[in-house]
Amino acid sequence: MQRTALFPGSFNPFTVGHADIVRRALQLFDKVIVAIGVNSAKDPADNTKRIARLRNLYADNPRVEVIAYDSLTADLVRQKNASCIIRGIRNEADLAYENEIAQVNFSLFGIETVYLLADPELRELSSTVVRELQRFGKDISQLLP
Ligand code: ADP
Repeated sequence: MQRTALFPGSFNPFTVGHADIVRRALQLFDKVIVAIGVNSAKDPADNTKRIARLRNLYADNPRVEVIAYDSLTADLVRQKNASCIIRGIRNEADLAYENEIAQVNFSLFGIETVYLLADPELRELSSTVVRELQRFGKDISQLLP
């Protein structure tokens, strides 16, 4: 049986921290679906760019699928026949936040969430930090895969 995991997120932008989670999830699952949560009410051009960049990044890897979605993550898990949701945990704040969502997904929909602990070298990295550095014209190329 082919095991697929869904890795949902805003990925705004997709950082080397996210890429590390995908890489490690591929060691546990046959296939990883990176699901970019988009808000269709917001800048569609920005969404299109984010999706294209990520598709391009994984173009050569048939075990990674990149999709955009604007629905309940639990519905997407079912629709894609995924075994679980993957989330990265950097710190206690992440854990507290993720636990709430994971609990709902398990109680209401029977969907499991698998946590991968962030690589200690990458745990300070967030999309927010990258956006902030970018705003002030700093070089962020090292932070993006
Ligand atoms: P969301 O807005 O859904 O929290 P993000 O794009 O910020 O989405 O993050 C998606 C997932 O990746 C989350 O589980 C987050 O904790 C995890 N993540 C973000 N940055 C890192 C990192 N540097 N190392 C490991 N996991 C990370």
